[in-house]
Amino acid sequence: MHHALFTRVQYLLSVGELSQLPPDRGAEVAFAGRSNAGKSSAINALCGRRGIAFVSRTPGRTQLINFFQVGAGRYLVDLPGYGYANAPAAQRARWEVLIGTYLRQRQALRGLILVMDARHPLTPLDRRMLDWFAATRRPVHALLSKADKLSRQAGQRQRMESQEALSRLYPTVSVQLFSSSTSVGLEEAREAVARMLEMGKGAEGDAPDATPEGVESNREPRSGPRKRNPRLKGIKPGVKPQL
Ligand code: GDP
Repeated sequence: MHHALFTRVQYLLSVGELSQLPPDRGAEVAFAGRSNAGKSSAINALCGRRGIAFVSRTPGRTQLINFFQVGAGRYLVDLPGYGYANAPAAQRARWEVLIGTYLRQRQALRGLILVMDARHPLTPLDRRMLDWFAATRRPVHALLSKADKLSRQAGQRQRMESQEALSRLYPTVSVQLFSSSTSVGLEEAREAVARMLEMGKGAEGDAPDATPEGVESNREPRSGPRKRNPRLKGIKPGVKPQL
């Protein structure tokens, strides 16, 4: 049970440029998916909070990378959705550079949660994400979302087929069914995220601000009051998403 990890989630900042990214330290798990795949709903469901990721299909706002803090040096990262039918070419090119570079080069990025509609997973752009990130050999966990739209049997078949197709090309990918509407797969998804953040060990003592050995050990005092994260000092605030 990793609920504590997600209930402490706090919105941190949004960036639209690689140069605005917070320092590449700590551990983060990113969420990616086609627009409308259900990514915002999935993040909200994981965190047990409506509106922590803004459920929206407004293209302008979703061009930003949104950071949420879930513990000391632990972050969830909401990547811009992709696959807008009428996005201008310049915007797509910008997306490629921003997301491609982030996925390939970000050291703090421990794993990727790829949200795909269970009814039509593995679109060409989903595969592009996998090509970028799986090359780092870090884990990818796919949520086949809106599983409530499929019968139990059809869902299971889709999961098996996706897992099979993916494991040939990307050995680090695991797949599960997920629904924000019915909470199918919610705990499994939470565990996948917690594992990536290395907070899946020792279930009971899973305090969100416990710092595992060897990770950013001198960034924040282990005892004493929770203060503003020192690494944020002096960072230019990113763009806040408009509501
Ligand atoms: P995003 O663009 O990937 O962030 O997708 P959203 O989370 O905004 O969801 C897109 C649409 O799918 C919205 O109308 C949601 O209500 C709907 N949706 C999201 N998750 C589910 C789900 O688990 N089941 C069903 N039936 N609809 C969902």
